[in-house]
Amino acid sequence: MSQPILQRAVREGEVAFTVEVHADRRLRKSARWSLNGARLVVRVPPRLDRGQINSLVDEIAARVVKQRQRALRQNDADLERRARAINRKYFDGALQWHSIRWVSNMQKRLGSCSGGGATDGDIRISDRIRAWPPYVIDYVIAHELAHRMHPNHSPEFWAYLARYPHMERARGFVEGVAFAEKADADDWL
Ligand SMILES: [Zn+2]
Repeated sequence: MSQPILQRAVREGEVAFTVEVHADRRLRKSARWSLNGARLVVRVPPRLDRGQINSLVDEIAARVVKQRQRALRQNDADLERRARAINRKYFDGALQWHSIRWVSNMQKRLGSCSGGGATDGDIRISDRIRAWPPYVIDYVIAHELAHRMHPNHSPEFWAYLARYPHMERARGFVEGVAFAEKADADDWL
């Protein structure tokens, strides 16, 4: 990518990230942005002046701050502890996420991990699995954490997730539940 035309650090309470602005000749009117961990990259049409860029960045940054503060308020301490332990034990502490919480509104999925937007690194775990065996809950957490390294279910993803030693057993458990419900376990994680 090109050199940034503007860089800025944003810090609001617990939320902190850097903003990098790049001019992108492919853009005509609107800006594009993506968040990756603590790095917000904004691409703007080259014809914008400094004032326009600054107010655009203000607007995007405010939206990201708001979303991330909301996610942190909802962070669940038990899941956070568990995720940190899994990260340390199996992934050399290499994974980073923003928040992790139980949710009751996921229809089918057992867990999800978002990437790219204002919710980058927000992990959600369905509370329908709360009473499932601990090694399966850990698997679901490990699965979502591993998506921070490999977003898709590529062979690399599965190889990486196999660092969690009970992966195969837990996948079998999930497949069994899905089978009983005439569902496809691949849609659940
Ligand atoms: Zn997955």
